[in-house]
Amino acid sequence: MKVIGLIGGMSWSSTLEYYRIINESFARRLGGLHSARLVLYNLDFDEIQRAQHEDRWDDTASILVDAGNALKRAGADFLLMCTNTMQKVADDVEQRVGLPLLHMVDVIGTAVKEREMQRIGLLGTRFLMEGHLYQDRLRDRFAIEVLAPEEEDIDTVHQIIYSELCAGKIKASSRRVCANIISRLVNNGAEGIVLGCTELPLLIHAGDTHVPIFDTTRLHAEAAVNKALAKG
Ligand code: GLU
Repeated sequence: MKVIGLIGGMSWSSTLEYYRIINESFARRLGGLHSARLVLYNLDFDEIQRAQHEDRWDDTASILVDAGNALKRAGADFLLMCTNTMQKVADDVEQRVGLPLLHMVDVIGTAVKEREMQRIGLLGTRFLMEGHLYQDRLRDRFAIEVLAPEEEDIDTVHQIIYSELCAGKIKASSRRVCANIISRLVNNGAEGIVLGCTELPLLIHAGDTHVPIFDTTRLHAEAAVNKALAKG
């Protein structure tokens, strides 16, 4: 069994889910009292989110590289960053730390392809919905088209993520707002919805929409378990 290196705290409320899902999955798959061999480096998210909003992505990469190096020294065999947004610097982190990194977008691309979908709607932070990471990587590697919400809806979801979900606040009113945004994406042709923020599955569940939902936290955590248990 390989040792999983988790770079977490982005935010702590979703890292808690990774920890739970990974351990539950080990117990389910191996039986008995099995649990994961993992090391966690929990970052101070305030430092990260400030750098994000000030467009200092190189600084965020340096913080993540330091965390990755600490995990490497602690015995991690591979890394995963418990966030969608920070996958923006994932290739850089992987190369500078020198450990394999389980890239979120590749995990999601594989899951969407398995459902034979060609066009998905993306919810997440503004950096993700307005950026190119998901859009380019899903198009180039998986031939999947990404639809982002309208400008006003992007603002709303971004606000809900940073002001509520990253602080552990779950509000029914925000769930209804997101359900409406999802409906608009579906009306525009989305066949499924990627909850492209690791806190969004705390708020939105399968019953909130009639199209399939891709829970990035669960899919990424379960892919880590597969990788940890794979031979070689
Ligand atoms: N956890 C969120 C995500 O998956 C937002 C926090 C962050 O910016 O990393 O994107």
